[in-house]
Amino acid sequence: MTVYEKACAKINISLDVTAKRPDGYHDMVMPMQTVSLCDELTLRLEGSGIRARSNLRYVPSDDRNLAVRAARRYLTEIGKPEQGLQIELHKKIPVGSGMGGGSADAAAVLRALNRAFGEPLGREQLTALAGEIGSDVAFCLIGGTMLATGRGEVLSPLPPLPPCRIVIVKPGFSISTPELFQKLDRAPIRCHPDTDGLIAAMRQGDLSGVCRRLYNVFEDVDDRRMRTIRQIKGGLLDGGALGAVMTGTGSAVFGLFTDDAATESCCEKMKKEYGFACTAEAVGELL
Ligand code: ATP
Repeated sequence: MTVYEKACAKINISLDVTAKRPDGYHDMVMPMQTVSLCDELTLRLEGSGIRARSNLRYVPSDDRNLAVRAARRYLTEIGKPEQGLQIELHKKIPVGSGMGGGSADAAAVLRALNRAFGEPLGREQLTALAGEIGSDVAFCLIGGTMLATGRGEVLSPLPPLPPCRIVIVKPGFSISTPELFQKLDRAPIRCHPDTDGLIAAMRQGDLSGVCRRLYNVFEDVDDRRMRTIRQIKGGLLDGGALGAVMTGTGSAVFGLFTDDAATESCCEKMKKEYGFACTAEAVGELL
């Protein structure tokens, strides 16, 4: 049997870190949005063993791949640990960009397998499995617009992002998530996003109010790469974005636009300058 599924990327509309926990994780407060930029997955239930194959040679094919881990966990959970599975990943979400590509692939595997086996697991059981695989997997499973708290796995629905176009830019470098958390831990966070104000603006459909409150505490970390992040933000704002911010631990940055012509021309310009840029739309719930 062959199943197809899309794995949509996420952006952090804002990102706050409120505490370091005794278990080593951080408490996060992140209004998140699913976007149309996606990987395409083909799952073949055949043979023995679970392997992933990707169009990018540096993406792991064994259990280091979150999609493989999600499949193994799911098949064990439904009592079919011997089931063979080949996962073909057509990666379009830039790797190491803070757009949760690996988490999105894992979530897509959970949705696809649950459908293929006739929905043996309910939404709550699937969400719990997702939370075991990685902090962002539960959000990527359900998608839409959510406030993610705890490690990122505690989700509550938010009003949708007011209508807008999105331009996503990724420079040539990636930023390691553990490295940036370590840097964040070395100095106190001086400024936090106005998450309540942001959510109120979303509730009122006030895009300008949302754009004024785009904020990511990782942008304040002492790291020379943040200079490039600031340059990209400047480029997006010069190109007509109402607001721009880094997503997750970077290195991707997105800007929100209302004007179609400005969206397209800014995207083209950023692609020439930084290597990767695309336009995207907000996407609603996936499950
Ligand atoms: P996060 O914000 O959750 O750290 P990210 O978007 O910054 O995610 P990913 O694209 O998920 O980063 O990749 C981070 C690392 O995860 C890569 O170095 C890669 O080797 C590994 N990885 C595991 N599974 C996958 C996958 N399915 N696709 C891409 N990378 C994967």
